[in-house]
Amino acid sequence: MTPKKRTRGQLIVLSGPSGVGKSTVIAELLSERENIYFSVSFTTRAPRVGEADGVHYHFVTRERFEAMIDGDELLEYAEYVHNYYGTSLRLIREKLDAGIDVLLDIEVQGAAKVRAKCPDAVFIFIVPPSFEELSRRLHRRATDQEDVIRGRLQKAREEYREIPNYDYLVVNDKVSAAAAEIIAILTAEGCRTKNR
Ligand code: 5GP
Repeated sequence: MTPKKRTRGQLIVLSGPSGVGKSTVIAELLSERENIYFSVSFTTRAPRVGEADGVHYHFVTRERFEAMIDGDELLEYAEYVHNYYGTSLRLIREKLDAGIDVLLDIEVQGAAKVRAKCPDAVFIFIVPPSFEELSRRLHRRATDQEDVIRGRLQKAREEYREIPNYDYLVVNDKVSAAAAEIIAILTAEGCRTKNR
């Protein structure tokens, strides 16, 4: 008899400081690996230039977001630099049940909530090569005011303290290399014999 591998999809949680290049790494990852669904989060923050509703985020009002919290519609949510961000539970459940892997790009408070609810998810933290490089990337992005950038850098320092709670650390120096490392992690996770 051939032992069976897992048939349910794998929940993958990716965190890392704002500006580390998560979206670019994710885009590369999705183009390189099939059968992954990227969970589009809900947020109350305003769209940045180039961001489309339903693609990068579902952009909603605070009232709508709070109604989703009250209706228990979210797997997790967090308030981050004065805005709400959250993950819809329904779609994720459907995809995992259908055997499709689901990727969440969420910050550390939300990840802690997922860890408590879904202990067999894979938790990956992405860092830049250095803090100076992170500051350069945030300034280069030029979409945020200086005080917002300062807030995001401060937030990044706090987020680094959570790294020991993650299963894997990936340094995003080169996007293709970071995506390749994540693919290697997911391949190994798919071959596990033991749950955590
Ligand atoms: P940004 O405003 O730069 O797009 O995102 C800010 C932070 O919110 C990032 O660290 C991102 O990973 C996180 N984030 C995005 N969507 C969610 C979500 O659904 N839940 C949580 N907890 N964090 C999210």
